[in-house]
Amino acid sequence: MIELIDIYKIYKIGDTDVYALNGVNLKIEKNEFVAILGPSGSGKSTLMNIIGCLDTPTSGTYILDGNEVSKLSDNQLAEIRNRKIGFVFQQFNLIAQLTALENVELPLIYQGISASKRHRLAKEALERVGLSDRLNHRPRQLSGGQQQRVAIARALVTNPPIILADEPTGNLDSKSGAEIMQIFKELHAQGNTIVLITHDNNIAAQAKRIVRISDGQIIEDRQASAAWNKLDSDKHYRSRQ
Ligand code: ADP
Ligand code: MG
Repeated sequence: MIELIDIYKIYKIGDTDVYALNGVNLKIEKNEFVAILGPSGSGKSTLMNIIGCLDTPTSGTYILDGNEVSKLSDNQLAEIRNRKIGFVFQQFNLIAQLTALENVELPLIYQGISASKRHRLAKEALERVGLSDRLNHRPRQLSGGQQQRVAIARALVTNPPIILADEPTGNLDSKSGAEIMQIFKELHAQGNTIVLITHDNNIAAQAKRIVRISDGQIIEDRQASAAWNKLDSDKHYRSRQ
């Protein structure tokens, strides 16, 4: 689904070249749950922006769902981005004047979907993140964790196969962070591909696969099995009750 081949990203600051990504090779299959883990400045956001087609690499090839991204026109790129990827950011990025429901409806307005269908889909998305009782609240009337759940509902409402989240728990206390991770686990169980960017080992450990990045290079790529083995066996246990 996602394939990065020898990706470099070099930012120019005056005469200086900043190598943000240094030859990244990464393949993520459909329905994986991957954490990209690394310290501040290691290139995580740069990588997310490239995976999300928000930015282009200096060199290398990116293939998204069979399409070589550099060969797409701006319109095709915008279309693929809107259809395939839901974004979640550290700062929630909600519009303060709009209610939770209206915030979640926004991407559907851009898609030209009728008001009644927008309402229905936005309500369903808010139900999926456990906020059916907060439809008409505005962001400042919600806790940080609830605001991030609204942002996740907004990312989900167009039904994209991939969710890309950049430090989604970075502004949250550990309890709210755990709730957000639980939602990602449920989305993964429902078939979404989740790519979660974090500097936090404990958050990364809850993904199924951990890709560690340092100085723009992948230094480790492994399965994070412990928690999932337990979760899977719990599920197995429950299904036999
Ligand atoms: P992370 O998200 O892991 O903190 P970033 O991808 O934001 O890392 O940054 C990687 C490196 O690229 C850092 O050295 C950062 O200073 C540099 N960088 C990021 N964005 C830009 C930019 N727009 N212009 C110049 N340098 C940048
Ligand atoms: Mg970052």
